[in-house]
Amino acid sequence: MLSDLDIGDARVSLRWMLFHHARDVLRQYWEWRPEYMDWPQPYASPVTHELIDRVPPTLSFPCGPVYLNAKSKRSAAVRGRDFSPVGAVDRESVFRVMNCHGSLGGEVEVWRDIRNQGRALYHGVIKCGDYWRCPICSHRITMGRRAEISDIYNQVAGPGQGVAYLVTFTVPHHRSDRLEDLLRQMLYARDRLADGAWGKSLTRPAGKTAKTSYRLGDIYIGRMRTLEITWSSANGWHPHLHEMWVFDREVPHDRRGLFDRLPEAWADACEDWWLRRPGANGVDLRRMYSNSEYLSKFGAETRSWGPEYELAAGHGKTRTVGPWTLLENSLYGDEVSRLAFVEYAHALKSVSPSSVHVGGRLAYAIKQLGLTASDDMHLSARLGSDAELLGTLSSAEFRLLAQHKGYEMFLRLVESAGHESALDWVRGLSSRDPSSRLFV
Ligand SMILES: [Zn+2]
Repeated sequence: MLSDLDIGDARVSLRWMLFHHARDVLRQYWEWRPEYMDWPQPYASPVTHELIDRVPPTLSFPCGPVYLNAKSKRSAAVRGRDFSPVGAVDRESVFRVMNCHGSLGGEVEVWRDIRNQGRALYHGVIKCGDYWRCPICSHRITMGRRAEISDIYNQVAGPGQGVAYLVTFTVPHHRSDRLEDLLRQMLYARDRLADGAWGKSLTRPAGKTAKTSYRLGDIYIGRMRTLEITWSSANGWHPHLHEMWVFDREVPHDRRGLFDRLPEAWADACEDWWLRRPGANGVDLRRMYSNSEYLSKFGAETRSWGPEYELAAGHGKTRTVGPWTLLENSLYGDEVSRLAFVEYAHALKSVSPSSVHVGGRLAYAIKQLGLTASDDMHLSARLGSDAELLGTLSSAEFRLLAQHKGYEMFLRLVESAGHESALDWVRGLSSRDPSSRLFV
């Protein structure tokens, strides 16, 4: 199982193995891209011509530049081409991870990432930014996200600031539940909770009457939400939401009764969306502490503790089977894990595109403080300000690396022997058979 606590060579290697395996598993899923349809050409296949003749004249052809039978100028993202009745149509993978670390056509840069233990990484290549399916991008997103969450927490809820609560929402689940259904229902139920009476008492300011004095809107700033998904053979999918609720000061005792009513409100919202009714443990609410606060309060230091670890666990918590564990089991031949990963990959497609969601006035507060809550794409492609350029690879050399699945091997060689020696190794690859896959 991948853990970010110990980023040893073995773990990095495993991450790259999982990257290749995820692509092998998801390769077969693609979709038509009719918006890329080309104007039919005289040298298109005879079959296509026959079909074109049968197209009713009312159907208008999309007009655009013609790239038929030529190397696509659009992007390396276009993987396959097929023929439709009206000409060539591009076929594109359903999942962005299939294009990850593809060439952008120009030179590829290799940088040293000082913050990540001086490890080498590629820059100037396609970074898919897919937090859910790409082990490489996901890791970078998690690391960047943690730094951001830590800054945000310290500025808005740290010592001398407001307070934050960690709220975890779970729903009852069964092994026969489809993940996509569970996710949709859970997220709808969460919206229902926010729109209902309880949610309004959280976000609307307290009034003067006794009834509205239970409101928290005057001190509530906003929330940050992440989604985590685990799986077990006994109980099936277990999606849950982690949220950081930020208040600008300590919640007064006379208004904490609101928190006691939260499990009931959550259960009602779940029932509204045909989920089984969660019990009292459907919601877990507790004060959040950073690592240093925990140390001063309880005299104990834990190595990986704090809002950044609770919110951005990065599929890597121990004792649970997350998507990377499924992928790892699949790599060793477990068919059930492979199918579970495929289901997970598809379910997330239609439900949750981003790894974090900022709500309420927190987004504004973050901006006011000069902080950022970047999107996944940005985090996966971003270089630290202290990163150092080690060298470049031509697009032909990089293609050779891709054919041999040698991405990781090259980076390790750069780290240990230097860029020039690593380049020599790449050039030597041209005489090898890519199918031998010595460097997976
Ligand atoms: Zn990626």
